[in-house]
Amino acid sequence: MIDTHCHLTDPRLGAQLDEVLSRALKAGVRRMISVSTSIGDAVDCIAVCAGRDQLRCSVGIHPNYVGEEDLAALPQLRGLQANPAVVAIGEIGLDYHYGRELRDRQFEFFQMQLQIAADFNRPVIIHCREAVEDALAVLKQFPTVPCVFHCFTGTATEARRILDAGFLLGFTGPITYKKSDELREAVRVTPIDRLLVETDAPYLSPEPMRKQKVNEPALVAHIAAAVADLKKVSLEEVDRITTETASRFFRWP
Ligand SMILES: [Zn+2]
Repeated sequence: MIDTHCHLTDPRLGAQLDEVLSRALKAGVRRMISVSTSIGDAVDCIAVCAGRDQLRCSVGIHPNYVGEEDLAALPQLRGLQANPAVVAIGEIGLDYHYGRELRDRQFEFFQMQLQIAADFNRPVIIHCREAVEDALAVLKQFPTVPCVFHCFTGTATEARRILDAGFLLGFTGPITYKKSDELREAVRVTPIDRLLVETDAPYLSPEPMRKQKVNEPALVAHIAAAVADLKKVSLEEVDRITTETASRFFRWP
């Protein structure tokens, strides 16, 4: 199994990284992608991957961090593409829940980073909150860039819109939460070979481990189990298919 989205540089995980990685391995999570949210974090993510073949990383500036970053830093993001640990650009996107006042700046960073993805032929991890239509409109300008809408928490209608545009959906802990019936409907309408499982650790611990305050990659199996339940297939089948999809998408055989 692959945890396609976690933040191993977060101090809550970074401080106990060896234990986190060994618990992941014990749970059958053989590979993980550590996702960055700023340029500094991208450098840290690359460092975390060094000497650990089960790790790869994604580099990019999260829409909630565009206020603290300089557009002039983007060439540095290009420079990082040469590092063999880097498999994707992200997480990048639009967030109108937080930071709506920085909308124009979010657009600028989003477009410029998509251009890097297009130039380097990289898949992209999209962070999109309350902005599906605008994100899809921007992505239309970059038809060659494969994307996953990570931590999808929208409706079945929004899921269909994203799938119809050719993108993948990433599902996290919220699909296991009691109140998430609408979100589970989105999982049901998503073909099993068009989705990825991810923890977004240290955030969003899945049930029945929700009381564990710091989520970690080992718990991605609970998300896969919820997908298996909704799709009425075995956990092994979800593991096999999502691992294949992730390997192909991130070009990590
Ligand atoms: Zn994330």
